[in-house]
Amino acid sequence: MQRRTFVTAMAAAPAAKTGQRRPKPIRAGFWGTQYYDEKEREQLLDVLESQSPFRWYGSTKQPPAKVSTFEREFARRMQTKYALAVTSGTAALQTAVNALAIGPGDEVIMPAWTWHSCYAAVVLAGALPVFAEIDRSFNIDPGGIERHITPATKLIMAVHLQGTPCDMDRILPIARKHGVKVLEDCAQSVGASYKGKPVGSMADIGIYSLQLNKTITAGEGGAVVTNDAALFERATRFHDIGMLREPHQQLLGTPQVNPFVGCNFRLNEFSGGVLLAQLRKLDRVVGDVRANAKVVYEALRDLPGARFRFTPDPEGELGTGVFFEFKSKEQCDRFKEVSKAEGAITANPGGSAILPIQPYIMQKATAHPNWPTFNTPRGRAIQYGPEICPKTIDILSRFAGPLMDPKFTRDDLEEIIAATRKAYVAAA
Ligand SMILES: *Cc1c(COP(=O)(O)O)cnc(C)c1O
Repeated sequence: MQRRTFVTAMAAAPAAKTGQRRPKPIRAGFWGTQYYDEKEREQLLDVLESQSPFRWYGSTKQPPAKVSTFEREFARRMQTKYALAVTSGTAALQTAVNALAIGPGDEVIMPAWTWHSCYAAVVLAGALPVFAEIDRSFNIDPGGIERHITPATKLIMAVHLQGTPCDMDRILPIARKHGVKVLEDCAQSVGASYKGKPVGSMADIGIYSLQLNKTITAGEGGAVVTNDAALFERATRFHDIGMLREPHQQLLGTPQVNPFVGCNFRLNEFSGGVLLAQLRKLDRVVGDVRANAKVVYEALRDLPGARFRFTPDPEGELGTGVFFEFKSKEQCDRFKEVSKAEGAITANPGGSAILPIQPYIMQKATAHPNWPTFNTPRGRAIQYGPEICPKTIDILSRFAGPLMDPKFTRDDLEEIIAATRKAYVAAA
């Protein structure tokens, strides 16, 4: 057989049916980009032809208002009054923290397991990050929040990690009781919901990332949502060097806030166009990945003693992965090894870092030595390190499972299920 024909024949052979091993274990890919088609192309061409890639004005024609249209549709999808597009999830966090007027002397409670940006946004505002443990949902443990609240606490970051919503019915009352604000970080759960409500719509302010690893994407991008007009005006001013322009001005009516110092986190029209096309596919992406996760959950549920990651709302989670709990790290590691040998990649929780054990965080490193965060009495006294989050470290070492992809085929899922079942039994 000629090599060319052989390669074609191999590619066409359905691996699961012939029992042949794939050359590489099955692995989840990036979600949003797999849905790129003529819709994103048309949006990009609109912007090219308009010669107006800047959202506020252009050289020859009016901008096609891609970013503004995206904001309007995003607010509608997330069931909030206002949405602001920004350049990244990190920029969205900074914008939200500054909109809430959090700064030097203030404390912000966040989970010990989350992305660097949460910590960065708080430190860059001059405020102090305080870490709380996670629970079996991989999200902040609502039962462990209250002991971190001090008179200086201004905010709780409820981060909906790896597709699973936080237990908002437990977090929101704690915040209300202590007069503390809540920010929902939905970067890893764009499109997820909690008891029927889109994540991001339940607290004072919500943020999303639209970077490559998230549900929908233009490579980079982010959004801030709120129902509060003053917060929205502050967010808008912060993201646009203190300015408030059309159409935000029109949306808000009379400005309520005096201009103050801000950044430039404005989104460009190309990204806005791609994100608009992607947003209109969000429910499809979420439906596809949820359906795949459901097949895998159902096929693994009968394994003896199987205990999955806890979710406070199984209907609302994205199904980013199907994670088992093991009794020990050794058992969990064995499970990962065997599943890989059987042709399916399984992994510990991912996409975040155990922040208190990062060297730059343990060292309280900042760009300038006089930065206010660690120069208050509390900032000087606070200690980070593994001893402040033993439960988080333990949980993350004992959970693993296959990650999901919205474009996995039935054959892919069957192979993942077979490999995972074998590995689970071998590890038990
Ligand atoms: C990805 C992520 C961010 C930051 O988003 P970028 O768009 O990469 O800046 C913030 N928070 C969490 C939880 C994330 O996973």
